Amino acid sequence: VERDDDTHYFHSYEENDIHEIMLKDTVRTVSYARFILSNPKVFKGAVVMDVGCGTGILSMLAAKAGAKHVYAIEASGLAVKARENIAKNGLANIITVIQGKVEDIELPVERVDVIVSEWMGYMLLYESMLDSVLVARDRFLAPTGLMAPSQTRLVLSAITGDRVWKERVEFWNSAYGFDLSTMQGPQFGEGSTEIVDKEEVVTNEAIVRDINSHSATIKSLDFHSPFVLKSTTSSPTTVRAFLTHFDTFFSHRSGAGKSHVPPEVDVQILPFSDDEYTAPVKPLQPKEGEDGVEVSFTTGPRGKYTHWKQVVFLLREAITLGQGEEIVGRFYCKKSPTNSRELDVEIHYAVETSGEEKVPGEREFTVQ
Ligand code: SAH
Repeated sequence: VERDDDTHYFHSYEENDIHEIMLKDTVRTVSYARFILSNPKVFKGAVVMDVGCGTGILSMLAAKAGAKHVYAIEASGLAVKARENIAKNGLANIITVIQGKVEDIELPVERVDVIVSEWMGYMLLYESMLDSVLVARDRFLAPTGLMAPSQTRLVLSAITGDRVWKERVEFWNSAYGFDLSTMQGPQFGEGSTEIVDKEEVVTNEAIVRDINSHSATIKSLDFHSPFVLKSTTSSPTTVRAFLTHFDTFFSHRSGAGKSHVPPEVDVQILPFSDDEYTAPVKPLQPKEGEDGVEVSFTTGPRGKYTHWKQVVFLLREAITLGQGEEIVGRFYCKKSPTNSRELDVEIHYAVETSGEEKVPGEREFTVQ
């Protein structure tokens, strides 16, 4: 039998709720809108493809930004709604909705100028939708075409984990006065999505994967990379968990290398207000002497809440991290062999004081 990780996946996108959550995530939706509406150089007169159009929101933004034509691709039954939404907004002559997987569909044109897609999952790569976007790029993007977003980074840090430890581990020690501590265990084998306070972060952030949408390959999305997390606190702290989040960058400079933000350049943290989803998004103005606007956003604890939250990996044994000490290690991430939409993560680490190794550790987790 052929394995099918898609049926359940696409069914999940036929629910209204998930689209409501995504649209009300202002960091997410306003960032896309700001990029699309503030870069006429990219969108005016362009042929655009929206990979996984959902309600059609990004396609409609592209049309509003002056796209000549938009192909809105959606595998799930929501394609029907997208078509209705687009017609209701008077954009049916500019946007063509095609229901199908982007891997399988045919286009009436050979190449598109821009591919826009909101493909990011928990811990960036959960859901493996980027694979489909890379197939779309190789099948349909013109050689000088632009990918939006152009770059994403998976970021690792270490946290005290106090709150999650209390809620997910200690909780079982006395639940309504009973000792249910036999329930402790699975928490240590799974990454969990949590909102972490930035005060809990006790190290620098390390980039464990820097993905250029123009040049990435599917193979490169199973990876391992070394990391160094240096203590940022002035006294010894208890580290109970690792934390991942991701940053997303949109560039108007087309072509592979050209759009790349180097690791030393931080993500922007632009202001977002809570009621931004009730009114049209206002375009941003280019800086003096520039012909476009760069946009980026973080899903990390330094930024405003997003529906992706962060992913916490709890450690069974806490690490005591002294001032100036480092956690050095290697972060492994690959698609789960039993479900390609899930991830297997391993974090190998040791605490080092000036090159001397203490407390080595090795943990395995799944993100499901
Ligand atoms: N663009 C919308 C929806 C993003 S969610 C928005 O920004 O609100 C991602 C969507 O992509 C889902 O609706 C999902 O069904 C669709 N999708 C995922 N993989 C796909 C593929 N291979 N081909 C076509 N659509 C896909």
